[in-house]
Amino acid sequence: MSDISASEYINQQNALEDEARGLMPWSPSHCTYADGSLRQPVFACLDCGEIGVCYSCSIQCHADCRLEELFTKRGFTCDCGTERQESKKGDFWCHLRQNQERDVPSLSNRYNQNFKGLFCDCQNKYKAEHDSTMIQCVLGLECNEEWYHCCCILRRHDHATDCLQNSSQDNQVPSGFPAIDSFEGFICWKCVNRYFTIFQALLSHRRSDDVIAHTVAHYSTLVQPKSESGVSELPSKRRRNSETDQPFSIMLKSGYDNALLEIKEGLEESDKLFIFLQDIAPFLISDEPVYEFSEDSDNDTSTFELGTKALNTSIDRDTAVAGIQAMDNIKKKLSDFLRPFAESGEVVKEEDIRNFFELQKGKSKDK
Ligand SMILES: [Zn+2]
Ligand SMILES: [Zn+2]
Ligand SMILES: [Zn+2]
Ligand SMILES: [Zn+2]
Ligand SMILES: [Zn+2]
Repeated sequence: MSDISASEYINQQNALEDEARGLMPWSPSHCTYADGSLRQPVFACLDCGEIGVCYSCSIQCHADCRLEELFTKRGFTCDCGTERQESKKGDFWCHLRQNQERDVPSLSNRYNQNFKGLFCDCQNKYKAEHDSTMIQCVLGLECNEEWYHCCCILRRHDHATDCLQNSSQDNQVPSGFPAIDSFEGFICWKCVNRYFTIFQALLSHRRSDDVIAHTVAHYSTLVQPKSESGVSELPSKRRRNSETDQPFSIMLKSGYDNALLEIKEGLEESDKLFIFLQDIAPFLISDEPVYEFSEDSDNDTSTFELGTKALNTSIDRDTAVAGIQAMDNIKKKLSDFLRPFAESGEVVKEEDIRNFFELQKGKSKDK
């Protein structure tokens, strides 16, 4: 009766549940609008006016919209059901806040191309299979915490095509790019440029080696780098003096926050590096923890529902699509069988599924 066996189904179910747990670690029952400006996971809704919404709203209010996961942004207030949202969804503007009138949006949200589903200097959509690894700028004051392809960090985007072709590493990092595990934070060349004198001061500080793992030049034209790798392993005064004024990005060493704190404590309060670390980018020393949604005890009710919902809702759509298609075939047959589980909030167990297939076998024999 079915082109899928019970054991295949169970394996899929387990994988789906694991994935759902990974994608949806918290119970989506609280909208963070009233909590105001937070460092939190943000989802762009492309169908409701390219607004950013909180994790819970992405599931409860925008499940049938085209969503783009933006990961964390600092200082963001949920815009679900605010005047930035274009159309009402059912009876309420936000289903969690249940507001009949649109709420006032925050003035501090910074909207950029990410909210249109575009990323990086190359202004592309995210496509997992073809792209080099993407990393986010931890400073973000100029770029609004943009995500960048490693390829585009190295060179101008029209030369970035096929930049992985000659890659010596198999982890989607182009040759000449520092190993991903050799640094902890990344500051893009645009943000470095904006605070150029600050970074100059940092690079010439005697403790710069405790903070900076690499500087990586951004070749605005496709000039072969002087060094074979394109990576300057010894960030120092020498580098700034000897090389041309090419823009460059900075990779921060693990533990850079403590090192920056110690550097700051040794500086005069009038020092521009002190002021930068104190007032402009204090989060480089002590970052606001990402807002965590409270865990809910009925989190593991109906993981089947949770799983399918999470996967349909967005996030890593590409990897989920194959699973969803396979699931869809059996879901139709299973949905009647599973409805009581979903309604009672019971977890579907392997033996339940076995019973279902046994029942099907029995039925087909009877015919
Ligand atoms: Zn919300
Ligand atoms: Zn929406
Ligand atoms: Zn909402
Ligand atoms: Zn790019
Ligand atoms: Zn940046």
